[in-house]
Amino acid sequence: MKLINDETCSFCKSNKESLVHVFLECEYVKDFWSSLQLFWNTHTNSRVTLDTTGILFGFPSRFRLLNHFLLLGKRHIFLSSLHGNNLSIDTFTNNLKQICAIERFNANKNNETLAFENKWSVLSKKL
Ligand SMILES: [Zn+2]
Repeated sequence: MKLINDETCSFCKSNKESLVHVFLECEYVKDFWSSLQLFWNTHTNSRVTLDTTGILFGFPSRFRLLNHFLLLGKRHIFLSSLHGNNLSIDTFTNNLKQICAIERFNANKNNETLAFENKWSVLSKKL
């Protein structure tokens, strides 16, 4: 484990880096969630609001793919903070494209294309 002496948020460099700050309250993280909301609503023709409750606990099961994206988003925030990288929605959406391609490959390989389509078909604009 990497220990650091600096408690300052690695994104904004001005606030103490608590769990609440780094996953919800930091201005850079808020921008990230806002960009993910725009990405989701644009690609699914929907009007989901990524509020604190949704980000923390997810959405009803019909939003399976969005819930997957939220988990991956939290992972992206954590890894970006850990490595001192800027929080980039473009990097994140590129990761989503790679994950989609990997899941498509595995689905084709394992004869599970229907399950893949059920999960990813909500995206009207393909990744
Ligand atoms: Zn911050």
